[in-house]
Amino acid sequence: MHPIEMVDLKRQYAKIKTEVDTGLQEVLNTASFIGGKAVTEFAAQLASYLNISHVVPCANGTDALQIAMMALDLQPGDEVITPSFTYVATTEVIALLRLQPVFVEVDPKTFCIDPAAIEKAITPKTKAIVPVHLYGQPAPMEEILAIAKKYNLYVIEDNAQAIGADYTFSDGRIAKTGTLGTIGCTSFFPSKNLGCYGDGGAIFTNDETLANRLKMIANHGQSKRYYHDLVGCNSRLDTMQAVVLLAKLKRLDEYNNARRKAADYYDQAFKNEPAITTPFRANYGKHVFHQYTLLLEGVDRDGLNAYLAEQKIPSMIYYPVPAHRQQMFAAFGGNKFTLETTDWLTERVISLPIHTELDQDQLEYITKHVLTYIQENKKA
Ligand SMILES: *Cc1c(COP(=O)(O)O)cnc(C)c1O
Repeated sequence: MHPIEMVDLKRQYAKIKTEVDTGLQEVLNTASFIGGKAVTEFAAQLASYLNISHVVPCANGTDALQIAMMALDLQPGDEVITPSFTYVATTEVIALLRLQPVFVEVDPKTFCIDPAAIEKAITPKTKAIVPVHLYGQPAPMEEILAIAKKYNLYVIEDNAQAIGADYTFSDGRIAKTGTLGTIGCTSFFPSKNLGCYGDGGAIFTNDETLANRLKMIANHGQSKRYYHDLVGCNSRLDTMQAVVLLAKLKRLDEYNNARRKAADYYDQAFKNEPAITTPFRANYGKHVFHQYTLLLEGVDRDGLNAYLAEQKIPSMIYYPVPAHRQQMFAAFGGNKFTLETTDWLTERVISLPIHTELDQDQLEYITKHVLTYIQENKKA
């Protein structure tokens, strides 16, 4: 059996090595490290894959979120509604720009922001909602978009974990997550479903004026060289990363299907164990399983984590501390939020290895050990 990793990028690379190596060699030969032709080509191909008018590449997913908020001209003190149950980057950029994060609950089934909680949190200062398609499960966008429309709010989708996921509206229209709100943001961090070999990110929109602002802000606020109209930053996707992404974008659907297949295996294996709740699959979306996350009831989670580690099976807690409990947000009143569902989930989730290279024997080995531990260690 191959060693089990949370994400096996080595074996994935082995399958695309010739294509990637050839592309990287060409970048070396031409020394077009920044702004090479692979960057524009990748942006165009991603726009076509997502069926969106504009893709603005940038340096990472955190920058993508920051640039999105800057482009919408949000002002210090403006309120931005976000889940607390997410990776810190989503909420950190809100605070960085001196906006006020308003942390709301997630739905314990989907792990995504709860539309009812959004509506309750709206005040005259609310300007934007940041839904996160957590673990690869689309957030309930139709309801979120309806609320945004009713209160005239921007929607910035954090699509870092869900690239390639489909969302189906009640009228049957299907679109990719990240293309549904005002702006979509993604990350190409190596372990993401579409990951490069370093840092990378992108911003999506169908609004041309906004696309121009996003491009300018990512490039020191200039559209003409050395003429800086806006305060911006320096956030670029480099050519080598674009080469890797071109090779992997072609295979993104295949990669997401491989993840779904592994998820199906896990679901089947755990379906008769009452201590485990397997990931819910919302009927409006197609999950891309960036993570495969279980909810445990009556199980010593740290004990399971340690037992699995002894069997050389990695497992992770995404995320042990929700945003509203992070020290970082104390000055923003983070600890004033009472989020019982979020806290409850934080204590019960555990993520198992999921990636494009999981073999049948690895899946058998992992599920067997998870079940063995749980059955032998039922709490009284
Ligand atoms: C990975 C991730 C980000 C940040 O992406 P980086 O490229 O690491 O900056 C933001 N939000 C979520 C939900 C993520 O998973």
